Amino acid sequence: MFLDVKDLAVRKLPIRKSYAPGSLDYGLAEVKQIGPLEVRATAELLEDQVHIEGKLEVRIEMVCARCLEPLVEDVHREFDLYYSPLPKGAKPEEERLKYDDTEIGFYQGEGLFLAEVLTEQVLLSLPMKAICRSDCRGLCSNCGANLNHEECRCETHATDPRLAPLARLKQDWLKKQ
Ligand SMILES: [Zn+2]
Ligand SMILES: [Zn+2]
Repeated sequence: MFLDVKDLAVRKLPIRKSYAPGSLDYGLAEVKQIGPLEVRATAELLEDQVHIEGKLEVRIEMVCARCLEPLVEDVHREFDLYYSPLPKGAKPEEERLKYDDTEIGFYQGEGLFLAEVLTEQVLLSLPMKAICRSDCRGLCSNCGANLNHEECRCETHATDPRLAPLARLKQDWLKKQ
């Protein structure tokens, strides 16, 4: 769906759409849409800015950064966005740097694609590093065993340094028993 500024200049556009898995390109192999993306929004032209307001829902499958098992993220996002016309001769990346604000965007020429707005909103909702559960033990760096499911026989696990104080506490506690 293309949001054409000429149409938006005439009237406010209500948007109700459902995107099936596979119809949107998130540009990342580890981000997989596994349910329909539902969007309810309105788009309008305010002066020369495209204003898009609404909400979306979608179920995304990602990969745990520690154990590499798939995990599901349910995304519910409300958005209220303004897109300014890109000044002639400017590059979107350079203009974006002038504003330290993710809520500002630019459109080029006649308007912008709703799909690009939506995929960007979904990506902004997802964690940079997805973890399947807070106590995920990850993979043994030596043999690759998934330590959530099995203990491997390796002598040493590369222990997370942040957990070292916890390990010492546990040892002290065991000594006192
Ligand atoms: Zn995990
Ligand atoms: Zn191992």
